[in-house]
Amino acid sequence: MSENYSRGQYQPSPHARTAPPHLRTAPARRQASGHAPSPQRRKPKRGGSREGRGITLIALLVIAVIVGGGVWMWLNRTVYVSVNGQSAEVKIDSGLTDILSVTGASPKPGNLVSVGGNVLEEGGGTAFTAKVNGDELSEDEIGSFRAKGNEVITFGDGTDVTEPSHEEERESQPKLEPAASVGAVTYVSQYGKTGRQKFTVGDISGEAVEGEVIEPVQNVKLESVNVRPDNGRKVVALTFDDGPSKYTQQYLDILSKYGARATFFCLGSQIPGRENLVQAIKNQGSQVASHTQNHEQLTLLDPDALRSEVTQTFSAISSAGGGDTTVLRPPYGALDTSTWAASGGTFSASIIWNLDSLDWELPGVDAIVENSTQGVTNGSIILMHDGGGNRDQDVEALPRIIESLQADGYELVTINELLSTDSRIPESVASGNATVPEGHVWATEVVE
Ligand SMILES: [Zn+2]
Repeated sequence: MSENYSRGQYQPSPHARTAPPHLRTAPARRQASGHAPSPQRRKPKRGGSREGRGITLIALLVIAVIVGGGVWMWLNRTVYVSVNGQSAEVKIDSGLTDILSVTGASPKPGNLVSVGGNVLEEGGGTAFTAKVNGDELSEDEIGSFRAKGNEVITFGDGTDVTEPSHEEERESQPKLEPAASVGAVTYVSQYGKTGRQKFTVGDISGEAVEGEVIEPVQNVKLESVNVRPDNGRKVVALTFDDGPSKYTQQYLDILSKYGARATFFCLGSQIPGRENLVQAIKNQGSQVASHTQNHEQLTLLDPDALRSEVTQTFSAISSAGGGDTTVLRPPYGALDTSTWAASGGTFSASIIWNLDSLDWELPGVDAIVENSTQGVTNGSIILMHDGGGNRDQDVEALPRIIESLQADGYELVTINELLSTDSRIPESVASGNATVPEGHVWATEVVE
């Protein structure tokens, strides 16, 4: 404590320490040196004088302005480029859009187009294309191009831009391929299969463009032929429509007498109360098939009525003991491809005829025999009736027809047997009971 106190006595007063020692001493030195220049005076002083410092600052500023201005001028200098064969002066680092506007070149812009190639917006594509020194630039390169001088630039018309789109997987439904020819027997030669395919769908247009096929679609196919036995047999098929009726049993007795078989195209509406006849046809060895429920012209019906006309009769035949069948004789022989398409695949074969007895005109026994036998060939199908009116002429004509045909060496067979003699016709069709197989589908529309 006493030591600190004694030091304090020798310390200068606080006021005397307001300036640093060298500044305090400077005036004293100046006074002491007098007028004579001292060596210290010639030595440059730190910071120089007030005037000196100002000059230095101005000089620096001038240099900065000169240098900065030079740099600015350098950075903003113009360069020469060749645009579409003409020299053009442009600011260095100009982009292509600026160069285009300076030179007044006017390429035609592309369009915005749909995935299907239709124009959605005129001029909605890229503004231009550009080649630089012979190289075609990409969109990105066009965006990033900066002129450095001496480039040879060629502007071209803009390109089309396709609308945004997305991928979709869609099912393709089989269509119905009509038969290439027209014969007495038309049948399903191939059932359909649903396909799956990728599509590119335009987000603006909604257009769908076909892409990769994942599962190929299989169309339904029809074939139509006149039967040409190719297994050495000589066969003819007698067919009787519009029954069963009170005449049917007489027909069966005649057939049995000659060891012949035939096909009865029954009307569903005729079956109730005559189920025993349906069964008798089958028992005799002949075939029962459908002539529809109510003898409506199928081509005039809507799809529901059409299917009902067909399937009701198949059910009635089966229930009566006539066997399972999907063979149809359309009333009036009227059936077209669109009716096939609307059928839902409910029948497998449509059987028309090669010879028409014209028995429904009641032309007399001789005429019926002649109509049914003249011009017959191997595989012929002959049309007669066992229902729909008075059939006395048929009952009289039938033995003579059978005798005549047998005398010519023909076997009288059912439609199923007839179909099985022609190797072009699939066995499933000749079975008389083909249906849409498992894993297959029917067509929804006809191939255009
Ligand atoms: Zn009929």
